[in-house]
Amino acid sequence: MLNQKVVLVTGSSSGIGLAIARTLAEQGARIMMHGLEAEAEGNDLAEELATETGAEVRYCSANLMQPSEVERLVDTTIEQFGRLDVLVNNAGIQYTAPVSEFPADKWDAIIAINLSAAFHATRRALPLMARNGWGRIINIASVHGLVASAEKSAYCAAKHGLVGFTKVVAMETAEQGITANCICPGWTDTPLLNDQIARFAEQHGQAVEDARLGLVKAKAPYPEMVQPAAIGALALYLCSDAAKAMTGTALPIDGGWTAH
Ligand code: NAD
Repeated sequence: MLNQKVVLVTGSSSGIGLAIARTLAEQGARIMMHGLEAEAEGNDLAEELATETGAEVRYCSANLMQPSEVERLVDTTIEQFGRLDVLVNNAGIQYTAPVSEFPADKWDAIIAINLSAAFHATRRALPLMARNGWGRIINIASVHGLVASAEKSAYCAAKHGLVGFTKVVAMETAEQGITANCICPGWTDTPLLNDQIARFAEQHGQAVEDARLGLVKAKAPYPEMVQPAAIGALALYLCSDAAKAMTGTALPIDGGWTAH
């Protein structure tokens, strides 16, 4: 379906980003994978995905804390593939603590990686998409772009910011064949949750498997974690022609969390 379109997925060495990269590669896209891993390790991941899907897959390492690195990542994608059609701003980190105890450096890092990096990448990618008259910006926000949870001040600020930023991009690009949308997952089965699961297990004296379910049930009626592949499928839909009039949205995929 994606017929050689070039896709950059930030943070695709793991979790949701990897699942999105895989789904889009299976549909014929050419993929720039990205992560913090050094080039040698990242190139192995890219080769694995290429073998699995038959797609052209490359890898670029960049620390998205630095705006210049975000720009280098987008520029490298355009240089190596000659185009950029779909930008998935997915890389993100988490840290939990009450506001009064929240370390300032963690706040800065979460805002830089989860929010500002999406701005720097989008800003760099849009002129080319506008020239081509087609583009998709897919921002991986969170239920925490829509509602709050205690101890997640920086994460909620970044994700609410990402939802707002996406709406503005949608307004500015609506006549250029470009759409901009957020996907807002609830608890999703990835390494990002390891610390929170371990803490829940400790607090409730539970085994890790029980804590995973406990964490889910504390927020959402559907009693399972979201699978990363389901987020890949939603990203694929946003790339389709059927979704060309869908822009500026924030789509929950959260087991009913935000229905409360
Ligand atoms: P993950 O930990 O499995 O993957 C995170 C990715 O981000 C990795 O590829 C990592 O290399 C990259 N990354 C982290 N710090 C970086 C940095 N400084 N520079 C460059 N890359 C960096 O996490 P995940 O769960 O797949 O999360 C992906 C996105 O989904 C994040 O934006 C996260 O906030 C969001 N999300 C996750 C969940 C969940 O429950 N897992 C729920 C809602 C939203």
